Amino acid sequence: MQTIVLGDEALAQGALDAGLFACYGYPGTPSTEIMEFLIDRFKRGGKAVARWCVNEKTALEGALGVSFAGRRAMVTMKHVGLNVAADPFINGALLGIRGGLVIAVADDPGMHSSQNEQDSRFYADFALLPALEPRSQQEAYDMAREAFELSEKHHVPVLIRLVTRLSHARSAVETSAPLTPARLGRARDTSEWMLLPAFARRNYVSLIEKSAALSEWARAHGANKLETERRDASFAVITAGLGGNYYDENFAELAEKAESGGGAPPARLHIGVYPIPADSVRKLCKNAKRLLVIEEGQPFVEAKLRGILPPSIEIDGKLNGKLPRSGELDPDNVRPALGLPPARGIPPAGLGLPSRPPAGLVLPSRPPQLCKGCPHADSYAAINAAVAVYAADDRAVLSDIGCYSLGASPPHSAIESIVCMGASISMARGAAEAGIKAAVAVIGDSTFLHSGMTAIVDAVSFNAPLTVVILDNSTVAMTGCQETALPPARLRPLLLGLGVDAAHIAELEPLPKNLDANTARLAAEIEYRGLSVVIFRRECLESIRRNRSGT
Ligand code: SF4
Repeated sequence: MQTIVLGDEALAQGALDAGLFACYGYPGTPSTEIMEFLIDRFKRGGKAVARWCVNEKTALEGALGVSFAGRRAMVTMKHVGLNVAADPFINGALLGIRGGLVIAVADDPGMHSSQNEQDSRFYADFALLPALEPRSQQEAYDMAREAFELSEKHHVPVLIRLVTRLSHARSAVETSAPLTPARLGRARDTSEWMLLPAFARRNYVSLIEKSAALSEWARAHGANKLETERRDASFAVITAGLGGNYYDENFAELAEKAESGGGAPPARLHIGVYPIPADSVRKLCKNAKRLLVIEEGQPFVEAKLRGILPPSIEIDGKLNGKLPRSGELDPDNVRPALGLPPARGIPPAGLGLPSRPPAGLVLPSRPPQLCKGCPHADSYAAINAAVAVYAADDRAVLSDIGCYSLGASPPHSAIESIVCMGASISMARGAAEAGIKAAVAVIGDSTFLHSGMTAIVDAVSFNAPLTVVILDNSTVAMTGCQETALPPARLRPLLLGLGVDAAHIAELEPLPKNLDANTARLAAEIEYRGLSVVIFRRECLESIRRNRSGT
């Protein structure tokens, strides 16, 4: 059957058709649509359980439990979510995976909606695990199906890496008949699941021994395609993931140019699954003088090549500046490295090519803004007014990650740091201990549940003089208004349970008419020389709109 889907949805459908039993995750652009698709199917009576978790670590640990019980499980997250899940991810490699376990991670090169450009292939390599990198929606579907088989065959978790341009683009996908995997039953040899030193040492040796079989799997895999016939062996190209598409878009011109000079286009290896197929790389480069590596993300393949190839081969790519070191690749910006002239003009509409402005035309930037009437704007008005009485050196407003990150920009200009989920509270504690008088942490309700709770325990234990402002908009707004793990009414009891003094928990409604009262209460809590928590609670406007329209 043919269907037109996003890359994220193709992966989700592939997992369903592979006999997925449960999927857990935490929303994050550009991965969110994987779970949204599965939740939608689940709500419509599908069999696979699909649930958002409080963070990526608990999601992956839940999936490990499903695998232990002998069922197929998947976890979804964005690239920085894998940092949060790194502990179970790295340790999970040493377990005797039972039901197939797939970790679907969507990277965001170009940082469209992220705080860094990290490349998840490094994580798979670090954990000695296989990774699959689809370059099309069809491959996303096919590789999701395959990943569960691979996981069960070698008893390892398997990572699938997507990137924004694939996750968020639609294409036709041919689906296959759904599989009904055999019931495996729960794990029996629990020494494969207990990382006590004596077992972990043995399991680690076993993982290392699997490397040879996984390397052979990657060498023989159809996605790792070597093209050497009627090609110029002295100039080789390695493409990986979407880098292959950008090369292909230029191939006709590249071949024409080479043939008009009596030559042939470069020999080429495309890599779609890892470990890197070292034998294929050596074969490709047997007579190469120059090698160009085109890969989306960080120079992962490129950096590894020096351990595979002799130094006499010149390697061009991101490390020597032949390709952009940061941001996304595209069909245009790989052309100079291929020896092609800059692309000219605006491509005709309807060809699916990226539109580009005429040379010299600088388009005005359109930075994102809080929605008009957003509750965060009223919260920031109160925060700005409350800290204004302190000298600049005596105040710090440290933020977290969510819609409220937009408070960094004018007209709010209210926050001074954005680092990672949960960092605001610990940073404010540190700043308070370092002598900042008005140390304020700003964090959303979902981010608080994700990574803020443990930081609150530290703050309680230190009785640090800081004020935590929880912006409770009762949803995970930034990624499309997913449900938070706990409803707003549970926040206060949770804070009390974590040890926050009831006298210093305030719940306020951020509205323009309440500005003076809210500022006064917040100022009093900032003045208090201990831990205080101020909850600004008003539902996100987008969430209200969606609830009313039923979307
Ligand atoms: S989506 Fe909601 S929380 Fe985000 S800016 Fe808009 S109103 Fe504010």
